[in-house]
Amino acid sequence: MALSYTLRCVECGKVFDDVEKGFLLNCDENHGPAMLQADYSVDGFEPVASVKGIYRYQNWLPIRKTFERSPETIVFQNETISEKLGLENLYFAFNGYWPERNGGMPTASFKELEAASVLARLPETEQRSIVISSAGNTGRAFLEYGSQFKINTMVVVPEFALPQMWTTIPKADCVKLVVLKDADYFDAIQLANHICELEPYFPEGGAKNVARRDGMGTVMLAGTEAINAIPDHYFQAVGSGTGAIAAWEMAWRLITDGQFGQHLPRLHLSQAESFTILADAWAKQSRTLPEIPEEEARAAAMKAYSPVLSNRKPPYGPTGGLFDALAESLGLFYVPTDEQAKRAGELFQDLEGIDLDKAAEVCLASLFNAVAEKTINPKDNILVNLTGGGALRAKADGKTIPATPDFYFTKEQDNMDDIKAILGL
Ligand SMILES: [Zn+2]
Repeated sequence: MALSYTLRCVECGKVFDDVEKGFLLNCDENHGPAMLQADYSVDGFEPVASVKGIYRYQNWLPIRKTFERSPETIVFQNETISEKLGLENLYFAFNGYWPERNGGMPTASFKELEAASVLARLPETEQRSIVISSAGNTGRAFLEYGSQFKINTMVVVPEFALPQMWTTIPKADCVKLVVLKDADYFDAIQLANHICELEPYFPEGGAKNVARRDGMGTVMLAGTEAINAIPDHYFQAVGSGTGAIAAWEMAWRLITDGQFGQHLPRLHLSQAESFTILADAWAKQSRTLPEIPEEEARAAAMKAYSPVLSNRKPPYGPTGGLFDALAESLGLFYVPTDEQAKRAGELFQDLEGIDLDKAAEVCLASLFNAVAEKTINPKDNILVNLTGGGALRAKADGKTIPATPDFYFTKEQDNMDDIKAILGL
């Protein structure tokens, strides 16, 4: 398929051709950090009716091809929860493994949307290895999709995330798993950055990768199709906030299209109580994240209710980043207690018979808090992004294959000489 988009810098407006550049992550002008956004040649919302899952929305994805495997967001309503909360138009977007609903994402998280989009953006000629750092779900998704499509992929994770590194098909030889001991997510990001200074490695780019954002943004598209309107409210638990930025960007495309309404959804975001730098910054309406001593932040991140919600350096302040998304949508932040999150997860499991991951539990708990705080009107259209679920079920069903690490590092070995020696370069 032909590329049908250009990239535009949100700060200076410069436009880039991604065909020529290949896999651009940053503007080359001399200004502060800013996002690139994709402008698609197809302006209107034109899902491909015959396709299910993410590639249904291929006209609004920055990709060069589609794969035969298309992770699918399942949008549904639960009468009991709607009644309990007194909400008339409450919709859940479930991203995970759910066999009774033919769902959707076998590795049990919405990060499959990211992997299926990012890997489809790579030029066919790319021989180098794409490097992804992760605290869990992203790593698992890239291990799976890299293996399925035989794409050179390296996943760097802190050791605590190793139990979450599994696939549903055997890990391919071209896919490598790197484990960093006694480390948190940010340490893993740093090691990945250093590895990317060497050939034959290059960075996936995280939030700066438009394919990552627009892949995750398809949750907004699936939700809008199911509701038949742009939702009035969008709920998600956040670590980096990339999924929320993605939802906001996709909502703007829907507004430009016009058929589902002209309003921006209000972002209702949440973090777990032990790690709240985004919630704290937004509470002060500050574009700058609070300064936390490194050891204190690392300790808090490692004991967090959900480690994937504890990114120490999220893309909050850059132009087009999370601060702008919150400011423009009059966003709100919630910090449910760990106990509230756990209870929300148990309720969902009882009613629907499928487990939520801890980030999704935090998100569901934040919906309960929003109702208690009366921040939503009972008649409004509400979309709740349940970003992960079904991992326990997948294990119980015998669907998971633990991924064996290929390389181990200690934090002291995060230097070029040791990296080359360990990777055999
Ligand atoms: Zn620029």
